[in-house]
Amino acid sequence: MNWIERKILGFFVKTKGIFSKLFFSGKGIIFMLHRVLPEQERNQYTLNKDLAISPEKLDEFILLFKAKGYKFISLDDLQSWLEKKKKIRQKFICLTFDDGYRDNLIHGVPILEKHKVPATIYITNCLPNGTGILWWYLFETHAKTAKKLNLNSSIGRLDFSWENSEQAYAQFGSISDAIKSIPISELQTVLMEGFGKTALEFEELCRSVSLSWDEIATLSRHPLITIGAHTMQHVSVKQQNYEVVKAEMSSSKKELEHYIGKEVKHFAYPFGGTFDVSSKDLEISESCGFRTSTLNQAGNIFRNNHKSMHALARMPLGNSTDDQRLKYYLNGIYHFSANQFNYTIHIH
Ligand SMILES: [Zn+2]
Repeated sequence: MNWIERKILGFFVKTKGIFSKLFFSGKGIIFMLHRVLPEQERNQYTLNKDLAISPEKLDEFILLFKAKGYKFISLDDLQSWLEKKKKIRQKFICLTFDDGYRDNLIHGVPILEKHKVPATIYITNCLPNGTGILWWYLFETHAKTAKKLNLNSSIGRLDFSWENSEQAYAQFGSISDAIKSIPISELQTVLMEGFGKTALEFEELCRSVSLSWDEIATLSRHPLITIGAHTMQHVSVKQQNYEVVKAEMSSSKKELEHYIGKEVKHFAYPFGGTFDVSSKDLEISESCGFRTSTLNQAGNIFRNNHKSMHALARMPLGNSTDDQRLKYYLNGIYHFSANQFNYTIHIH
């Protein structure tokens, strides 16, 4: 952001976002959530605590958005609106839950039912298949007992070390980027060695938190729930070649459709930031037959700001989303500071 843009942003902030709301808050927001866990269970985590929202907080947010006049819509409705096939009078919100955690069914669905709010759950197929390597959780535990992590793959060797878990968590960004760059075919072997765990231990962790295929099929018949895809193995697609990405996207769609018996129209890029998605990936998701694809890149939804239905902005929502942050989400200040004063999300 240059000097002039910073001045303008400062003006928007000073005027409490009234002017930015007028021009830049768009029509709606897609929110990105993951797990739904009671406070006591959230508190067991440090690094991954914000990966879960508490049921009370979810309830509170829904009531707040309804009180502010927002309408909750499904991704099918969002798609129809973006394609100009449907009119939506009010500002809207879409709720999306990534990965396919069982707590979505246990703690999330009852709240959605209470308020009759639709949501999409993006399933990573390796979760119900029991083959998911939930390295973000493995790393949190590993950092408490070990003092180092070695990642030894065909792209090279990376060594990380720390004195205490706090120091380890501070390096999570670079460790996460390193893990995402490992070719997917080597990931299990590299991480088994790095974390000193067996394949069975990986599977036990995965099965303990994931929805089963039966549960996913049941959820798919729920009138408020849409099932979306999120690749086979939770791949940072930008880091992988065309063939791998095509296989990851199309196989996940086909397998999900096999288990739920209906078309899977919506996709979310795993991790979903600009480090994780490139323009080739937008083309692949379209060619696989998905109708919309969402990012993890902050932004509001405008009817004409999306060059592609396959690069839709999403904002994270959780217990740590405070009043100030929420205000900036809703009045568009957050969108414009995150996207250098562009309506469009730039994916290279
Ligand atoms: Zn994910």
